[in-house]
Amino acid sequence: MTEQISLKELMNYEKTFDCVQCGYCLPACPTYETMASEKHSPRGRIQLMKLAAEEKITLDDMEDSINKCLGCMACTTVCPTNVQYGSLLEGAKHAIESSKSKSGVQKKTEKLLFDTLIPSTKGMNALGNATWLYQATGLQKMAQKLKLTSIAPLHLGQFERVLPPMPTPKERKARVSFMQAQQEEKMKVAFFTGCIMDSLFFTINEQSMELLTRAGATVVVPESQTCCGALHAHAGRHEQAIVRAKQNIEMLENEEVVYIVNNAGGCGAQMVQYDKLFEEGSDWHRRALQFVEKVRDITQVLVELDGLDYTTSLQQTVTYQPSCHMSNVQRVVDEPKALMKQIPGLRLQEMQDPHFCCGSAGIYNIVQYDESMKILDRKMSDVKETESSAIVTTNPGCLLQMKLGAEREGTGQRGIHLVELLMEADPQPKKAKQESL
Ligand code: SF4
Ligand code: SF4
Repeated sequence: MTEQISLKELMNYEKTFDCVQCGYCLPACPTYETMASEKHSPRGRIQLMKLAAEEKITLDDMEDSINKCLGCMACTTVCPTNVQYGSLLEGAKHAIESSKSKSGVQKKTEKLLFDTLIPSTKGMNALGNATWLYQATGLQKMAQKLKLTSIAPLHLGQFERVLPPMPTPKERKARVSFMQAQQEEKMKVAFFTGCIMDSLFFTINEQSMELLTRAGATVVVPESQTCCGALHAHAGRHEQAIVRAKQNIEMLENEEVVYIVNNAGGCGAQMVQYDKLFEEGSDWHRRALQFVEKVRDITQVLVELDGLDYTTSLQQTVTYQPSCHMSNVQRVVDEPKALMKQIPGLRLQEMQDPHFCCGSAGIYNIVQYDESMKILDRKMSDVKETESSAIVTTNPGCLLQMKLGAEREGTGQRGIHLVELLMEADPQPKKAKQESL
């Protein structure tokens, strides 16, 4: 355990008293619904955190409950006393992580993953290129035919089946770091590429920048950016999350831009909370607040720019799976639907309970596979009630999860990022259209 601060401080103990145990959050919590147990509810988890901070139970006693929390923050949207559940959860994870004694191999593996691979653009590009090689050489087909994917650890074979086709290394290398607005420039923005997004969904990142420039933004892609730190924070690796935040804050200070734009609900949610990583009143806290003010989801910027005309009619019905982190943390709710309504011919049919988490939740679907699939089944029963041919979402994890859900259920629906859907409707700069009339 850390020597500098007590367990109570580490776990934000004082904040546990904000919970008055009213239970309003219970119906909003997906794990309370699927696991039907108080210890897997927000109220139960907070009670366990309090007892652990008071050392009346051990950290091990609360670990299962904490690990099975999705971090979806649905509970925070209904809590009447505004309990800071996100801070409590991060504190609990940090305390559990700090208390673990690990083998040398485990430490080296985690260091490689969290310090070397995830934060490195080169490392994530290499992962994307390796996936391309796997797909392009026929290895993927062979592995699927011989059912080798079914013996992959952590159920990774399930997700391998729903990965999108990767761009070639040459296409990846052709990325430019500056794109001029394709109509009169309304603003200059920095684009945040993300680690998973850029590695596995590189094409969606390219499409995102294309959309922004068509809509009237000049886009820069700062080379010094790094992973947002969400994966580190969710794993209880608080110090490493701070390192990533500092690097991104410094990156933005070197750019004269109006916004830093991302297209991944999870990354955006981490970045809008950078100020919470630093002590109030400190210089880093002040700098983090300046950063946070500029973080925007791409849907917010496209709505603000209002610079596109969609020229192709999409005669189809879609349903929309909102990213929990985007709606519950960033509180971006209306903009994605407003953009879909601009597409001619498109019909948006909402699910009965769209804000129920899909079960992806960072790497929850990998490390808590069975629980995640129960949540996904509940989500898919809602999806199947719609007459949609596609499930639209705005986060890489949700995207893979919805593709997997459609595949497991055999619904034939596409899982698609909103940016891809917008591009299918061939958006053109409004000004260009006016000139051609
Ligand atoms: S709604 Fe808020 S105060 Fe009530 S039990 Fe849940 S977390 Fe506690
Ligand atoms: S973050 Fe989500 S899963 Fe965790 S307690 Fe809150 S509502 Fe339940």
